[in-house]
Amino acid sequence: MKKANLIMLGAPGSGKGTRAVALCEILGIVQVSTGDLFRNNIKGGTELGRLAKSYINRGELVPDDVTAAMVKDRLSKPDTAGGFILDGFPRTLAQARALDEILGELGGEISYALYLDVPDGEIVRRISGRMICSECQAPYHREFNPPKSEGVCDKCGGKLFTREDDMPETVQKRLEVFRSTTLPLVDFYKAKGVLVEIPPELSDRGAVADMREVAEKLGLCAR
Ligand code: ADP
Ligand code: ZN
Repeated sequence: MKKANLIMLGAPGSGKGTRAVALCEILGIVQVSTGDLFRNNIKGGTELGRLAKSYINRGELVPDDVTAAMVKDRLSKPDTAGGFILDGFPRTLAQARALDEILGELGGEISYALYLDVPDGEIVRRISGRMICSECQAPYHREFNPPKSEGVCDKCGGKLFTREDDMPETVQKRLEVFRSTTLPLVDFYKAKGVLVEIPPELSDRGAVADMREVAEKLGLCAR
């Protein structure tokens, strides 16, 4: 069985979180979302959380060294040994290089970087309907991925809410940061020969069926 170490690349609101979760279910690998890790730290009132919050609420990136250290810590845990999907990391070239170093030390490499190329107008529409679970962080969308019962998480019954950084002005800022800072990673992973573009439009079958097709095409073993 081919162990999958994946990266999910895409703008804020591109649907990468939903697809990352779907792939985790299909492949039985672990999702590592830097956004979730930061939010858990904020919720837990840690030092890291306090630092991260000031950047996140302005729509800016948390500094590279802080972010990379947090990811290294997470990838050092044994549950990632069977494969993982990085959701929201790397987001800068410096982070991509740090990731190479981390994987070199831990003994692993990236299988594929999956890139979702979504038009800007579509992104704003997607973000405006976004909600996440206050308990387990599962992502939902009023239009594209609605919970079975309004405002309530299907998985754990937690309350759904809209994130502070999903406010319109902050979204604009995040899109700018994505274009200037994160988009160059597409070429970085292309040069490594691991870039895979995945269709941004969800088919009627939904994220899980779509990602199952992607996994099969890439020869990643389904659970
Ligand atoms: P989205 O992908 O929709 O922007 P995330 O949950 O991935 O949302 O991230 C929320 C915020 O957390 C980002 O806007 C940024 O401030 C911070 N963040 C997440 N990942 C990183 C990262 N790799 N480097 C720096 N900051 C990050
Ligand atoms: Zn939940």
